[in-house]
Amino acid sequence: MPELPEVQTVINNLKPLVIGHTVTKVDIFYPKMILNDPHEFVNKLINLKFINIRRRGKYILFDLSNNESLISHLRMEGKYSVLENNADLPAHSHVVFWLENGSKIVYHDTRKFGRMHLVKTDQVADAKEIKKLGWEPFDPQFTPDVFLKLLHTRHGKIKVALLSQDLVVGLGNIYVDEVLYYAHIHPKSNPSHLTLSDATFLQEGIKKILKLAIKKGGTTIFSFKNANGEIGHFQNYLKVHSQNNKLCERDHAKIQKIKLNGRSTYFCPKCQILK
Ligand SMILES: [Zn+2]
Repeated sequence: MPELPEVQTVINNLKPLVIGHTVTKVDIFYPKMILNDPHEFVNKLINLKFINIRRRGKYILFDLSNNESLISHLRMEGKYSVLENNADLPAHSHVVFWLENGSKIVYHDTRKFGRMHLVKTDQVADAKEIKKLGWEPFDPQFTPDVFLKLLHTRHGKIKVALLSQDLVVGLGNIYVDEVLYYAHIHPKSNPSHLTLSDATFLQEGIKKILKLAIKKGGTTIFSFKNANGEIGHFQNYLKVHSQNNKLCERDHAKIQKIKLNGRSTYFCPKCQILK
């Protein structure tokens, strides 16, 4: 599943190909993907220009020239490609936006779980899928104190709290394992037992790891490819995730793999402390 760095990479690649261009036609081959009335969706989009592409959590926001925004979530396998008008459509193409400049934006998705939702730009924050999201990791107002207060409202396991998206957004299974390793915190720790120092390290780890992953174009473990069809390279920088039986580079203990709430979880049993 694409995580924050992969979604940001898709946006970075789409921007130069899409911003400033006008939609001339829209084809929808799988109407269930559209949360609005599909006919209304198509009629509204024609003649609109893409003016910006932003990210909120793992959602892509395409801002349009009529003050509406298209909220798009790639879910498990969704991908965008920008192709020449006469190029063949990739397999599993579900929505095509034809542009005035002789290209087309194609959304393809083998699992069909992706969703698109057109809302007024000033109401994006209130859209039901956006409203429930936690802090953006790079928001300067998201401080260790703010983070600690939120962590202390949670019981259960820190990994589950960080995956929930309602404390801080953008961390999926891979990056949560890396962040907890960075902060020396065992994935089963109780969030309400963490200290200000833990929250500070966690937050530092979240920012550092996401920044590096964005720089490396995301992580290619399953089938993620960015909008140019390139693969990401962050998998070469993983310290614990998918590294079971390899040695921790801090203390040479063997990295362990467990299942935590059904998710494969990797950690060092020596330097990640259970709190
Ligand atoms: Zn270790």
